[in-house]
Amino acid sequence: MGSGQVTDWQGMHVTVAGLGVSGIPAAKVLHARGAVVTVVNDGDDARAREQAAELEALGITVRLGDGATLPKGTELVVTTPGWKPDKPLFEAARAAGVDIWGDVELAWRLRGPDAAPWLAVTGTNGKTTTVQMLASILTAAGLRTAAVGNIGVSLLDVVLGEQQYDVLAVELSSYQLHWAPSLRAHSAAVLNLAPDHLDWHGSMEAYAADKGRIYEGNRVACVYNAADKATEDLVREADVEEGCRAIGFTLGTPGPSQLGVVDGILVDRAFVENRQQNAQELAEVSDVNPPAPHNIANALAAAALARAFGVPAAAVREGLRNFRPDAHRIAHVADVDAVAYVDDSKATNTHAAQASLAAYESIVWIAGGLAKGATFDELVAKSAERLRGVVLIGQDRALIREALARHAPQVPVVDLDRTDTGAMLAAVQEAQRLAVTGDTVLLAPACASMDMFANYNKRGDAFAQAVGELGAGA
Ligand code: ADP
Repeated sequence: MGSGQVTDWQGMHVTVAGLGVSGIPAAKVLHARGAVVTVVNDGDDARAREQAAELEALGITVRLGDGATLPKGTELVVTTPGWKPDKPLFEAARAAGVDIWGDVELAWRLRGPDAAPWLAVTGTNGKTTTVQMLASILTAAGLRTAAVGNIGVSLLDVVLGEQQYDVLAVELSSYQLHWAPSLRAHSAAVLNLAPDHLDWHGSMEAYAADKGRIYEGNRVACVYNAADKATEDLVREADVEEGCRAIGFTLGTPGPSQLGVVDGILVDRAFVENRQQNAQELAEVSDVNPPAPHNIANALAAAALARAFGVPAAAVREGLRNFRPDAHRIAHVADVDAVAYVDDSKATNTHAAQASLAAYESIVWIAGGLAKGATFDELVAKSAERLRGVVLIGQDRALIREALARHAPQVPVVDLDRTDTGAMLAAVQEAQRLAVTGDTVLLAPACASMDMFANYNKRGDAFAQAVGELGAGA
């Protein structure tokens, strides 16, 4: 079907794979353009039936309880990004030479001829923070923009909506990238690469290759993490427009074509005249909120994309100053008896938890939950010297306890042996007992929350509430 915009949908047989947040709007939009749409869905529960009835009332065919067989005559499959690539439906489509598009590909193909360019961000951790910083910087530069995509704002809604934009700050997940073969960003960044979602992608190589898709066809800059060689390798492998540059970011002194940090100042040695000799001050480390190392890296990546789009240095500073992180991401909850309590419930994998542990000198660490197949040796070994003590909660806490026994046997560990919701108060009380003046009690579980809580938000809320109760008793 080529890779251009599709303008004539009349009579085209499109199969939408999966109801849900992206499937339903896709089906409606394509139907409205004259396509003959069939939605297939694995589930057949009450909610699916309700959604199906709504679509059928519009004249869309819905097949519940069978997401495996490709309907006859299908000319294009539009899939929910979460569906695994090895599903029989996709195998049948590939065998029949039928294209498969995800939600991002569909939005890309349906955007208008004068649509705003995309500055795209992916990575294992830090995506949401970085696109929000980027949107804040672009806004400070007077540009009409929004943070969209995997962040929870549908790209389809944005590209088809009334609102006009100059540029979009787009968060993309590895799933979305997998299904977005013709996406061409203005510039893009891969923040970091650590094993995650391997079950879906099949292997680390496949995961990296999908992340690397974000660089394909970039026009101005491919932004990589100089401390993470895998991201640089992806730039090297990408097929980009002529003149597109590789731009690194580093927490150290930047080389030419890099952004980095010198004496507490974020500096740009990429988008300046005569970059062999010159550097441009962008902001101070203290302008980044919070100024933890991984977050400074996020700020540099956001700044690199903004600078690639021609944003002046002053807007980078103002945008970073205006930025407020979302809840549960290294959120300072309270100080109680000269101990800081910090909620990083969003640290749901070991790579994120490691970044957060690196941000504090002396920590009582609250960890545990669902490990999702992770191992904890590297995380514990790298963080051991910062740990005053550890409080473990949740289903897979034994995995962390064993890693602590191997790599930090001197660190006191309280194993709470609880997975009920009330365990958080007990955990915070134990942490308070272990902490001394100047310490940080850090909730950075390195695990998913669903064994004890509905989601990471609820886990963070429980932590904050427990800290509140400490304060009241103090
Ligand atoms: P994502 O959208 O990729 O999940 P977020 O910005 O929501 O990323 O941050 C998720 C968690 O990952 C944060 O709570 C923090 O612990 C961690 N994190 C953020 N940025 C980075 C980074 N650059 N490197 C490692 N970990 C990070």
